[in-house]
Amino acid sequence: MTYVATVADLREPGGPFELRTRDLAEPGPDEVLVRLVATGVCHTDLVAADRPVVPGQILGHEGAGVVEAVGAEVGAVEPGDHVVLSYAWCGECANCARGRMAYCARFLELNYVGERFFGQSSFATFTLTSERNVIRVAKDLPFEFLAPLGCGVQTGAGAVLNVLKPRKGSSLAVFALGAVGLSAVMAAHIAGCDRIVAIDPNPERRALALELGATEAVEPADAPRGTMDHSVECVGSPDVVKAAVSALAGPGECVTLGFTGRRNPVELDQRALMNGRSIRGSIEGDGIPQRFIPELIKYHRQGRLPVERLVRTYAFADINEAIAAARQGAVVKPVLVF
Ligand SMILES: [Zn+2]
Ligand SMILES: [Zn+2]
Repeated sequence: MTYVATVADLREPGGPFELRTRDLAEPGPDEVLVRLVATGVCHTDLVAADRPVVPGQILGHEGAGVVEAVGAEVGAVEPGDHVVLSYAWCGECANCARGRMAYCARFLELNYVGERFFGQSSFATFTLTSERNVIRVAKDLPFEFLAPLGCGVQTGAGAVLNVLKPRKGSSLAVFALGAVGLSAVMAAHIAGCDRIVAIDPNPERRALALELGATEAVEPADAPRGTMDHSVECVGSPDVVKAAVSALAGPGECVTLGFTGRRNPVELDQRALMNGRSIRGSIEGDGIPQRFIPELIKYHRQGRLPVERLVRTYAFADINEAIAAARQGAVVKPVLVF
């Protein structure tokens, strides 16, 4: 039996998405066929949409849906299960073996340049993915909340909870309040930080950050300097990276998450690191999806991770409107629903 998927195809860089149909084969032995119910639009989709088109590649990497069929060797899920889709990892390299899947030796090939974007290509009504890409979840959770967990929320919350692991009572600054930054704010609140400074030029975003747990919200010109234990940077531009390092007291740590998709030299005064300050990058907030997505859902059930506050839903047919809203920053997290 073949499945006919409707996919959002991009013919030229930056060009509009066009809906068309594509036949999908039966799942292979370790594959899962998922009927998408919701898919978030993430910043990395926008970056990827502007680079030269990878032939055959469909974008979309924050899918959530229902398992339709599974291959003979799949044991983790069965048809009818509700699943969140996350990033792809090989399961065989040294980093996968020691639980560092975000640093899989084949990460680039499996997630970015291959035919299946992040192993899932979820701007589609159906998708074939690997068993490793799916996380089974309870059936009472709304899909438009589940979808962004697979990338944006995992990245921002993971940078705090998996990488920085702030002590109760410590301080944390978040630079830029998109879905990743606001997830970092919520995670800092979950971790028990006493001082959470949210930084963004957009007053509406700052107001939302205050509702989600920030204790202060300021414009970039008023960002803290030399006082914070931790900082999270979600833009990637040299100015913002430098500001996020400057915000730290020694020996504070900065995590840089902003992905520009191109060469991005940043000039740092080495003296800024001498009192123990450090800066490191992170992919997907170092999250191991099978473990971290259920943890995020637990926080949501406790009312401490209200991701729905970031979401606005769009019909799949309105994908170009959703992409435009994401580019303009008019919506924090557009989610396509099928
Ligand atoms: Zn690997
Ligand atoms: Zn993403």
